[in-house]
Amino acid sequence: MTLTMLYEGKAKKVFSTEIPQEIIIHFKDDATAFNGEKKDVFADKGRVNLAFTRYFFELLNPHNVKTHILSFIDDVSLRAKKVEIIPLEVVVRNYAAGSICRRLGFKKGMEFEPPLCEFYLKDDSLGDPILCREHIRYMDGIAESDLSVIEESALKINTILSEHMDSFGITLVDFKLEFGKTCDGEIILADEISPDTCRFWVKGTMESLDKDVYRENKGDLISSYKKLGDILGIKF
Ligand code: UDP
Repeated sequence: MTLTMLYEGKAKKVFSTEIPQEIIIHFKDDATAFNGEKKDVFADKGRVNLAFTRYFFELLNPHNVKTHILSFIDDVSLRAKKVEIIPLEVVVRNYAAGSICRRLGFKKGMEFEPPLCEFYLKDDSLGDPILCREHIRYMDGIAESDLSVIEESALKINTILSEHMDSFGITLVDFKLEFGKTCDGEIILADEISPDTCRFWVKGTMESLDKDVYRENKGDLISSYKKLGDILGIKF
């Protein structure tokens, strides 16, 4: 099978397949933070993040959350439906951490009840700025009704994941999702869910088992990811 690379992102490569409506996504070992200013390669990271993505997406399946994943090919690649990615980074926050503390001065760990759902423009050249609904109204291709579907889905995913992580003594602090539109116009969950895209704290200690370990130089990234995997019983 001849694979043509369609796109190379910071953490993944996307290839076309023999079926026009299907793609192959390859998880790279690269880590980046601060809009690509900090960059490193960690052996095994692609494999570990794919295992987490598989775990979380399979957790969502029985809850009727439609996703782009079709099958898993090997340790680092999966087959997915080709979608038009909606250029939004959808962030759900249960507790304050990261950019919301820097931007608004909220104390790290402050609870958001009900959880916050925020939208950021997926555009590295603009530094992924935060958007309000009024801004999105003026953006091509994102209807008000699409936004409601996305928000409802993101909050549902938050409930499922938070309750699940809670049962393992882990707090889901916040996370980022991306959605895409299929050729039939259906909005489905795309991209990945992994410690690269979520913040996870050990209950009681607030120990990070996510990319903050890398962002804040708090230890060995892969060991922290594998520690989280061990808690969840994920076989790497
Ligand atoms: N996030 C992500 N990709 C991004 C920006 C954020 O996966 O390009 C995730 C991040 O890992 C965290 C959540 O979204 O779980 C909220 O990130 P935040 O806005 O606090 O930004 P950060 O502190 O990561 O710069």
